[in-house]
Amino acid sequence: MANVLVAGAGGFIGGHTVDRLTRDGHNVRSVDLSLLGDWHQVHSESDNKVLDLQIREDCDTAVGGMEVVYNLAADMGGMGFIENNKALCMLNVLINTHLLDAARAEGSERYFFASSACVYAQAKQTDPDVTALEESDAYPADPEDGYGWEKLFSERLCRHYLEDFGLETRVGRYHNAYGPRGTWTGGREKAPAAICRKIAEAKISGDHEIAIWGDGHQARSFTYIDDCIEGTLRLTASDVAEPLNIGSSEVVTINQLVALISEIAGIEVTTSHDLTAPQGVRGRNSDNTLIRERLDWEPSTPLRVGLESTFAWVYDRVVAAGR
Ligand code: NAD
Repeated sequence: MANVLVAGAGGFIGGHTVDRLTRDGHNVRSVDLSLLGDWHQVHSESDNKVLDLQIREDCDTAVGGMEVVYNLAADMGGMGFIENNKALCMLNVLINTHLLDAARAEGSERYFFASSACVYAQAKQTDPDVTALEESDAYPADPEDGYGWEKLFSERLCRHYLEDFGLETRVGRYHNAYGPRGTWTGGREKAPAAICRKIAEAKISGDHEIAIWGDGHQARSFTYIDDCIEGTLRLTASDVAEPLNIGSSEVVTINQLVALISEIAGIEVTTSHDLTAPQGVRGRNSDNTLIRERLDWEPSTPLRVGLESTFAWVYDRVVAAGR
């Protein structure tokens, strides 16, 4: 059992990480910038603190006495947010820099950094008929402007803290995590939650036309939250010091994602396509050769299975909100 800090515990992945770590019996400190009432999950077994991790002193308070640090804190959202808030996304560098250095100063043993598939070179993601991305495809560097550059810089900072100071840093590159208990409305939600919401609203209202961002041929893989947490814990406990993909390799187009969710909802929808909306890269998938090799594991939850619980959860939120 370890003393573990989860930074960004009020968020989607952070909340699920605290849930798992407390169930596993660890002593967890949960930290987020948001007020407790706004956290996706609040666990009474953990020591919950509201702190601003862009500020060094707050990072010292957060890390004090902690052996393991999971940095899941970031000012971020789906494409609609990251394409229109590049400076805010780059300011996340303050969180990782201060937290990492506070962990070094405290003598923490392990540090996990939540990186992203947005670090991959954009020129390798122009075709919806995707070639899955291997970890080496992050270089030569040409990541997503703003958000992706910050992630790539912070990955390298983690690497040098291991090389220069011996802090055991681990870096996971998440590919589109989805599942219950995340952001589903308000402008920061990502494609699976947004489409679940639109289809839930269509089912409730009887108006079955929904708007989709882009032409719908963009291809992605989506990683169920339980796989995301399992991969994070396995990587953090491992001796793998290089960045690893934590992503499903089941690739679908956005049109296929819509078809799958409407089937789960039990309705037929017609789609209109907003070609001016942010869409990100044309095609992206996770190559899992390295994670299989190094951790003898890879994400395996079928998309349909993960979407069933996600849709049910979003549907209940839409009903509760009276939309
Ligand atoms: P989220 O937005 O749900 O959670 C992030 C949390 O960080 C929020 O609760 C936010 O309040 C908190 N935060 C922001 N600024 C802070 C600050 N200054 N101090 C303390 N807390 C602060 O996001 P998520 O989906 O849970 O993502 C977690 C991490 O994983 C992030 O680093 C994100 O970039 C990365 N990631 C997520 C995905 C995904 O699909 N969800 C994909 C790739 C990478």
